[in-house]
Amino acid sequence: MGHHVEEVFTDDDKKKLTERIKRILNRIKGMRTYEIAMMRHELPCIFLEDEMCMVYPVRPVVCRTCSSTSAEHCKMIFETRDHRARLRCYQGMREIFQTVQTDLVHRSQEMGCQSDLLYVVEGIRDYFSHRRPIEAWLEGDVVFNIR
Ligand code: SF4
Repeated sequence: MGHHVEEVFTDDDKKKLTERIKRILNRIKGMRTYEIAMMRHELPCIFLEDEMCMVYPVRPVVCRTCSSTSAEHCKMIFETRDHRARLRCYQGMREIFQTVQTDLVHRSQEMGCQSDLLYVVEGIRDYFSHRRPIEAWLEGDVVFNIR
């Protein structure tokens, strides 16, 4: 997603994204993962804009399967605060997500790359804090600050 942002986003898009990241990082400062999860409805995805997903072609696996099949769905989850909406996916999709996620983690571990799950806001911050994130990650360096 970081690479997509670099390649596709306009300067204005990047500026707005940076502001959103700063705002959310300030908001979650010092909070634990479960505390952040409890207030997810107050923290819209940093890539959601005007009911559009700005990273749709490269959206995370979880978005492709469980938490959303459309950016409109994402917006509805955040606006209605309906936690059950987040779980509205077919069992088959959930199984696909778990299989893909598990395999990605294992393959990354085998390659010696960082493979922990990331909160996307912090992941994007870390990506842009690094001079050469993709190469460094592939070389097994620490790129992401895992909670
Ligand atoms: S599909 Fe995923 S990345 Fe895109 S706006 Fe929704 S939650 Fe964000």
